[in-house]
Amino acid sequence: MKTIGLIGGMSWESSLYYYRIINEAVKERLGGLHSAECLMFSVDFAPIEKMQSEGRWHDAGQVLADAAVRLERAGAGFIVLCTNTMHKVAGAIEERISIPLLHIADATAAEIRRRKLRRIGLLGTRFTMEQDFYRRRLVERHDVDVLVPNEAERETIHRVIYDELCLGRVDPSSRQKYLAIIKNLVAAGAEGIILGCTEIMLLIGQEDVRVPVFDTTKIHAMAAVERALGGQGADV
Ligand code: GLU
Repeated sequence: MKTIGLIGGMSWESSLYYYRIINEAVKERLGGLHSAECLMFSVDFAPIEKMQSEGRWHDAGQVLADAAVRLERAGAGFIVLCTNTMHKVAGAIEERISIPLLHIADATAAEIRRRKLRRIGLLGTRFTMEQDFYRRRLVERHDVDVLVPNEAERETIHRVIYDELCLGRVDPSSRQKYLAIIKNLVAAGAEGIILGCTEIMLLIGQEDVRVPVFDTTKIHAMAAVERALGGQGADV
């Protein structure tokens, strides 16, 4: 089993699900008392969020690259960055390590392609929905066609992530707002919806939505298990 190196804390509300999903999947695959070999470097999110809102992405990249270097030194076989948004600085992290970074958009796209879908709605932070680093990767590397909500809807999605979900607040009225936005994306042709922020799974699940939902937290965590175990386990 390879040691999984997790960079968490963005926010810890979702990082704890990574830890749970990874351990449950290893237990399922290997049985008995097996659990995952993993390390987590969990950052303080407040200064990172400040860097994001001030556009200081270079600084944020260095903080996360430092974390990755420490995980590599501690024996991680590969890195899992437990947030969609901060994949904006994936390149800065990769430059400083010699182990692979398991990219969340690649894992998600693989799942979308496995389900044979092509036009997908993307929910996430403003950075993820509006900037190129995530969408372009889906389009150019994986041939997935991405639809995003309109300006006002993006604002709502973003605000709920930072003011509620990252603080552990799950508000039923925000769920209704998200569902209305998802409905509009489906009406515009989305065949599925990417929950492209690792906290959205706190609010929305497959049971709430008619089209397939791609929960990036679960998909990324399961891809990490796949990478860690390689051919090990009963169902491989
Ligand atoms: N966890 C979120 C994401 O997946 C947002 C928090 C962050 O900015 O990293 O994008």
